[in-house]
Amino acid sequence: MDIQTILQKDQLNKEDLVFLLGRTDRAECQALYEAAYRVKLEYIGNVDYYRGLLEFSNRCIKNCLYCGIRRDNTEVARFDTPREDILQMARWCFENQYGSLCLQSGERQDEAFIAYVESLIRDIKRIGGGALGLTLCCGEQTEETYRRWYDAGAHRYLLRIETSNPRLYATLHPQDGHHQWQVRKDCLAALARTGWQVGTGVMIGLPGQTLEDLADDILFYQENNIAMVGMGPYVVHHNTPLGNEVTAAGRDTRRDREERLRLGINMVAATRLYLKDVNIAATTALQALHPLGREMALKAGANILMPLVTVQRYRTQYQLYDNKPCLEDSQDECRHCLAGRVASIGDRVGWGEWGDSPHFFNHLGDKG
Ligand code: SAH
Ligand code: SF4
Repeated sequence: MDIQTILQKDQLNKEDLVFLLGRTDRAECQALYEAAYRVKLEYIGNVDYYRGLLEFSNRCIKNCLYCGIRRDNTEVARFDTPREDILQMARWCFENQYGSLCLQSGERQDEAFIAYVESLIRDIKRIGGGALGLTLCCGEQTEETYRRWYDAGAHRYLLRIETSNPRLYATLHPQDGHHQWQVRKDCLAALARTGWQVGTGVMIGLPGQTLEDLADDILFYQENNIAMVGMGPYVVHHNTPLGNEVTAAGRDTRRDREERLRLGINMVAATRLYLKDVNIAATTALQALHPLGREMALKAGANILMPLVTVQRYRTQYQLYDNKPCLEDSQDECRHCLAGRVASIGDRVGWGEWGDSPHFFNHLGDKG
């Protein structure tokens, strides 16, 4: 197969995706990224949107084998950000023209948590008369809970499927009945039914994951009418079962990390080429593997940045993986640093705009 022929095709198939994802040669990767950036220019423009990412609590009932804040990690001090601090950060985002805020946390399904998030949403939507777009990323919930949070005023929800391969999913989660791939998939359908703009994504470079799996992930986004994609490389956390397994097997060398980074960028580019009009995030995990990881993703087709606005004193307690960047930077520093990164690649920031996924409006009637 010849990369130029594939890049000139109007619609790629799975075989093409596998081929593109597997490119390692520098010139071939460059051609792939340039083609994806051209599609971004055509469907989105050279504009990147901000969503301030506020990690407001690390309490979690789940035990995902890869995650640093899993329930059984007793090294982590658990925190809840006081309500007034959350609102202050939301006001900061509004005043600094971030356009949108994303509230992320560990998973809890108790009524106290559900009601708390619901009232938080209402308070945040009062800022600037509803000016801030609001994304939630709080895990698996019932359809009723998703409806309550939507009715309170949030409108986008991120729930990564983690991998579209149920067998691979099973190796990444405890087999205790509470970590089921099908339940997660059903949550995505419930979110779509309730009116949310739905985002999903996967981890890239997982042990046992093949290029076919990654190509299937992109097909999964399409089959499920996904409007937003947030995906990033798997990054080892030292105190997790999966992290220990990968490290013990000698599979977290510099070369392994470079490989996961490249695969991550290749995925961004292939997803942009295949889905065209969706929002794609340049995720922080890319930067954990390379200082310029996020810029590389923007140049390969991503159009969303999520600067951290987590309250400073809690940042070290919300580490899903090792080497989380921006732990020390204040939100003002993050704002300027990222604006510089966007300008450095020739894009501009869509200050004060929600930057909703064009796909959502182009495909409103489609079935999820
Ligand atoms: N609890 C919610 C949201 C917080 S976790 C949920 O799980 O949906 C958000 C995302 O972090 C997860 O979906 C997962 O893809 C990612 N993540 C967790 N541990 C990671 C690791 N070690 N490397 C890369 N990404 C990780
Ligand atoms: Fe909890 Fe999300 Fe981490 Fe799983 S990935 S342990 S649900 S915070």
